[in-house]
Amino acid sequence: MIYKTILVVEDNEINRTMLNTILADQYQVLEAENGEEALSLLEQYKDEISLILLDLVMPVMDGYTFLSIMKSTPDYATIPVIVTTQNDGETDEVAALAHGATDFVAKPYKPQVILHRVASIINLRETAAMVNQFQYDRLTGLYSKEFFYRKAKDLLAQNPQKRYDVICSDIENFKLINDVFGIPAGDRLLCGIARLYTRLVNGRGLCGRFNADQFVCLLEHGWEYSNEMFRNAEIEISAMSNTRSVSLKWGVFAVVDRTIPFEQMCDRALLAARSIKGQYGKYFATYDDKLRNKLLREQAITDGMEAALKEGQFVIYLQPKYRIQDYRLAGAEALIRWNHPEWGFQSPAEFIPLFEKNGFITKLDQFVWDRTCAALRSWDDKGLPAIAVSVNVSRADIYNANLADFLMNTVNKYGLSPSRLHLEITESAYTEDPNQIIETVVSLRNLGFIIEMDDFGSGYSSLNMLNQRPLDILKLDMKFIQSETAKPNKQGILRFIMGLARWMKLSVVAEGVETPEQMERLREIGCDYAQGYYMARPMPCDQFEELLREQAGSGEQAEEAEESQQEDRPRQILLIADEDETYRGQVRETFKEQFEVVEAADGEAALGCIADYESRIGAVVLSLTLSGPDGFSVLEILQREKAVWNICAIATASADAGMEERALEMGADDFAGKPHTMK
Ligand code: C2E
Ligand code: CA
Ligand code: CA
Repeated sequence: MIYKTILVVEDNEINRTMLNTILADQYQVLEAENGEEALSLLEQYKDEISLILLDLVMPVMDGYTFLSIMKSTPDYATIPVIVTTQNDGETDEVAALAHGATDFVAKPYKPQVILHRVASIINLRETAAMVNQFQYDRLTGLYSKEFFYRKAKDLLAQNPQKRYDVICSDIENFKLINDVFGIPAGDRLLCGIARLYTRLVNGRGLCGRFNADQFVCLLEHGWEYSNEMFRNAEIEISAMSNTRSVSLKWGVFAVVDRTIPFEQMCDRALLAARSIKGQYGKYFATYDDKLRNKLLREQAITDGMEAALKEGQFVIYLQPKYRIQDYRLAGAEALIRWNHPEWGFQSPAEFIPLFEKNGFITKLDQFVWDRTCAALRSWDDKGLPAIAVSVNVSRADIYNANLADFLMNTVNKYGLSPSRLHLEITESAYTEDPNQIIETVVSLRNLGFIIEMDDFGSGYSSLNMLNQRPLDILKLDMKFIQSETAKPNKQGILRFIMGLARWMKLSVVAEGVETPEQMERLREIGCDYAQGYYMARPMPCDQFEELLREQAGSGEQAEEAEESQQEDRPRQILLIADEDETYRGQVRETFKEQFEVVEAADGEAALGCIADYESRIGAVVLSLTLSGPDGFSVLEILQREKAVWNICAIATASADAGMEERALEMGADDFAGKPHTMK
């Protein structure tokens, strides 16, 4: 048996190996790391290659460039290309289609889907090569693609005064129908659609079948098209197929400018249909300037992104986060901004979704994490308060096998403990592929990163799923805050969520706080932190640094003020956790003026005190050599428990550089080698 040859073009070695493993039983596989390598393999093997599997985002030469070059080279132009995409979204699919791709598969790869897709496309190409030699499509009796083009051009030429439209359709889930209900059911469906087209055209134009489930007609313009009309067509088709529901997307291109090649008119109608893929309730789209501009703009963004990163057009803004209890600056969220030399500042709401689809987000996020850690380092060096900053982790990042390594290397590079980075993971990612996400997030959390669930309340997750998730902080979505704070106090679900969060030992950040009323309400229900325009908008890093500096100054003043009115307040507690009774006594004597002192002789007792006194504890003198659990475990718990984050921990042990380093790494504020003098 002679194996057919498939060319896999993909820069990520793991993905490449995975595809190779999936395909190797049935195909001969060639591998290329980028577009350039792929082109030279094409030249070498051109006639032998039956199909190409292509990644879009690659170094040296990306997928789009590769597609453009190969599709304009007659020798290779007809080789089908399956593009591998990060998501099942339509944007990069539309862009890839515009560049001549045949089909898409989404990452992560599912072996059965890939094998099926590959087989059916190779098969289609072979039959299409035959069909196109005939005038009619054997299955439906409509014109074949090439013949449809020819007849349509003739028709347009013979009727220069008439107005025409190109209308086409694409079945969204045709592959599924074929897979689940079998080829005969699929064929019946296609014949039904062909009959519908014939009736629609009714002698006032021509119909053809292009690919498996793509139909096109050229039709005299008779009426305005409505969603209703196409919806009825879908209902009719679903009824005749016996296969529950069939989802069709229709595209319309009005033939106004006749200088456009007819093939391109058809492509545009198909692009219009593709542009509403996955959009519920949308049955048709017209190719108009708006769609054209949108596609062009997306293309321009994609074309410019790599250079923009190299040239430093992406900058980080920080939006302060405040502790509601005392309005102290408690941290920030890093938000990316694109300062484009021609277009000015671009909204991430536009380019981030695009980057999530074309995979560039992984690179951009890594840049954000790196810059954020660099900023934290420089503040530490300047002696500013050691706050934590939240960064966004997009779902594509989570599928990256190197995520944990990359994050660890980044914090290590800047000598930071992982707890200085809070990772914001959006709620919808959590619900999408729970197992993979949870596995990754658990490992990140074990490494010491603090995990925040972003956009909580934006819709998807059920509350009871929360306690199965590795989580430290809930970040309430701004729409949720805005609608809930507008309701009367008692019925709010906000209060309920706060209770739940307390029970699960999560702290809660409210996002998008815009008014003093909202702030007051959040304070009432005991929310911990707030972020929003009411307090501060996202700002450049140096401006944020100013805030941090002011905060450091005012903090000292506040402490002085506090000292002068100390009588009214319960005194702060100093916890001495040490196995040596004499030592405890010495420390107690030294500090009894400033603090109320409590003692613990082992790890368990120390944890008990921490749980009992929580926020009243100001500092812990912690022996690392405690027994059951040891000082390191206690330190770790201090890092974890949000209620006690602000406790100052001084680790003690007989002088030992290794222990000192480890304790500081784990978040101890200082280390005192024993024996030491009490000062
Ligand atoms: P997000 O993570 O939910 O970020 C919060 C967004 O709300 C930010 O918009 C912020 O400027 C905005 N915001 C903050 N306070 C208020 C307020 O009081 N009122 C209103 N109306 N808006 C407020 P931004 O910066 O435009 O970012 C939009 C989204 O883009 C982010 O939503 C996030 O999903 C994404 N994004 C931004 N930067 C990054 C990044 O570095 N990496 C990734 N993966 N995504 C990012
Ligand atoms: Ca966020
Ligand atoms: Ca958010």
